[in-house]
Amino acid sequence: MDSIRNLFNIGNGPSSSHTMGPQKAAEIFLNRHPDADRFLVELFGSLALTGKGHLTDYVIKKTLGENRTDVIFNYEQIYNYHTNAIKFKAFKDDVQIDKWLIFSVGGGSLKELDEARDIGNDDIYPHKTMQEILNYCQENKLSLVSYVRKFDKDIQEYLENVYLTMETTIQKGLMTEGFLPGRLHVKRKAASFYQIYLKEKTFSKLLYTYALATAEENASGGIVVTAPTCGASGVLPAVLFACRDYHNIPKEKLIEGLMIAGLIGNLIKFNASISGAEVGCQGEVGAACAMAAASEAYFLGGTNEQIEYASEIALEHHLGLTCDPVDGVVQIPCIERNAMAAAKAFDAANYSLMTNGIHYITLDKVIEVMKETGFDLQAKYKETSTGGLASKNK
Ligand code: SF4
Repeated sequence: MDSIRNLFNIGNGPSSSHTMGPQKAAEIFLNRHPDADRFLVELFGSLALTGKGHLTDYVIKKTLGENRTDVIFNYEQIYNYHTNAIKFKAFKDDVQIDKWLIFSVGGGSLKELDEARDIGNDDIYPHKTMQEILNYCQENKLSLVSYVRKFDKDIQEYLENVYLTMETTIQKGLMTEGFLPGRLHVKRKAASFYQIYLKEKTFSKLLYTYALATAEENASGGIVVTAPTCGASGVLPAVLFACRDYHNIPKEKLIEGLMIAGLIGNLIKFNASISGAEVGCQGEVGAACAMAAASEAYFLGGTNEQIEYASEIALEHHLGLTCDPVDGVVQIPCIERNAMAAAKAFDAANYSLMTNGIHYITLDKVIEVMKETGFDLQAKYKETSTGGLASKNK
């Protein structure tokens, strides 16, 4: 598995697979052909169906140059490797000089056709499953935080920046009112939720408020941290900063919570998928909930086994969750779903801490089932906005 820095990407929302990934790909192609006269970019699968609402064509044109770039939407062809395919073509003097097929596989990551999904670019972690990690930690008397520090050597500084970005995003979300972009005219709620929280301070109210603050910033194209994706970026910061402000968890420990969360997110990314277009929302908000539950269990003093159990509960109870964004924008059900998942993460952590950590279904098994379930889901439930809630808004 890669460094967890590749899981926590910092950039503009609203979508890591539909905005950040395509933007990164366009930058790579531009670097290869800065002098091209013209670019033609073809979007396939989920990118074609929800690319408009997710601003995919907008970021590609902005990156390659609006006057020399055409983006076309291919609704017919689907690649088996991953639905989010992008084909770039560059032209000089009306002659095609290059073409490149690339896939945006979730969380801002890119892969070439048929490139192995379970192997990272740097592969610094020697273990591939949670069980292997738990065994290693037991044999070497390590906590999960010490495990991450051992293999992800320079991660502290990077995570401090992640922490600051998450904090800034929440602050911005709390201060901004009005409506989100798009035809749905969704009103931002974080600021009013915060006022309600101030009148009656409960942990749940703070969790909802912070989740909305980040998710609304994401929906408006603001800067967020993928955790593990943009669409699910509100869950983990809500848990971290509500724990800071309500339970006085110090910054040092919150950064360690990011290490734990990153490890869980990495396991899901490399053994299944964090792409809603590939496995539905269970891979995005479900994964985010598992990450947040694990970090919260750590804050509450959980053992390695209890932390694993908390993440397992959180993911298990998101199995089968579909991705059906109304009007193709990351707003309904996404924003509210972030708040609900933050609350579920808290419950999962509390539940696991009432046990000794021994349980029947492991996180590894749930990750496997999540992948199988996601592949069995019909395409209309995987970020195509052709089924589920999206179909009730026609
Ligand atoms: S429904 Fe879930 S997976 Fe789909 S766009 Fe919204 S947050 Fe992402």
